[in-house]
Amino acid sequence: MLLIIRLFLITSLTLVSLFSTAQAEEVVVYSARNEQLIKPLFDAYTKETGVQIKFITDKEGPLMQRLKVEGANTPADLLLTVDAGNLWQAAQEGLLKPVQSKVLSSNIRGYLRDPGNQWFGLSVRARTLVYNTQKLKPNELSTYEDLANPKWKGRLCLRTSKKVYNQSLVAMMIAEHGEAKTEQIVRGWIANLATDVFPDDTKMMEAIAAGQCDVGIVNTYYFGRLIEKSPKLPLALFWPNQSANGVHVNVSGAGVTKYAKHEQAAIKLLEWLSSKNAQNLFADVNLEYPVNPLVKPDPVVAAWGSFKQNPINVAKAGELQTAAVKLMDRAGYK
Ligand code: FE
Repeated sequence: MLLIIRLFLITSLTLVSLFSTAQAEEVVVYSARNEQLIKPLFDAYTKETGVQIKFITDKEGPLMQRLKVEGANTPADLLLTVDAGNLWQAAQEGLLKPVQSKVLSSNIRGYLRDPGNQWFGLSVRARTLVYNTQKLKPNELSTYEDLANPKWKGRLCLRTSKKVYNQSLVAMMIAEHGEAKTEQIVRGWIANLATDVFPDDTKMMEAIAAGQCDVGIVNTYYFGRLIEKSPKLPLALFWPNQSANGVHVNVSGAGVTKYAKHEQAAIKLLEWLSSKNAQNLFADVNLEYPVNPLVKPDPVVAAWGSFKQNPINVAKAGELQTAAVKLMDRAGYK
């Protein structure tokens, strides 16, 4: 009898350890970042560690909705998405859990992660100025705020305010200047528009290249993609606010879900994504900048020049998003 009990105990212990090994060998990711951007990275991780990564990709809205509906039953361990505004929203809705990790806090610059440790930037996207090189000299440009100056009347193009990138930009301006001054600036931009707002950054750049306007605001990776396709376009990037607060940056990033079944494995994957080896894979594939200060950007990206980043914590993009949306509406920014 005793032997049977002992055997049973051994068997169940073995089962338990088998079970935990099986658990540790898998991470489930919900990703708003495209498959083509994450798959090579996940494959590299599996090759290096043996850990399998299962993932689904969708837009951030449906993914967050799914997490909410699944609640404690969700299979997801990690939510990966773009824009601090979205990451902040996920944390706000209780979909993520705080992670204490010395690796993450040393690998990722402080202003690129949640002060409450619920999400972490993994790549930096700079939202900067782009201009037509046949229509103006770079020394005519200076700051985002200056684009409200009447000297730019009929010369400015903007993407729609419906896109979270512009909501985040304006939210960060509110963090810096307060609402009243930011509203004045946004009203100035609208007064200077050459034409209706554009549905995306690429169409806006094409309008600038075609001479419909002289200058606009763009995420640099869209510039990189367009120039790769059409290298002769008369377009160049400009780094604004360099003698002031710096260029507006945002992140793509991730957080461990509140009900993660493979929490430790998810944290390990996050840590790896922020490491020197993975950072280039993560950033370069989309022509973005690493969050890890020890890692250099891709040569194509580096050729656009180095610049000072605005060091206000990107969480402000979330905290002030509602205020930004209302402000843009008041200012007539469609
Ligand atoms: Fe984008």
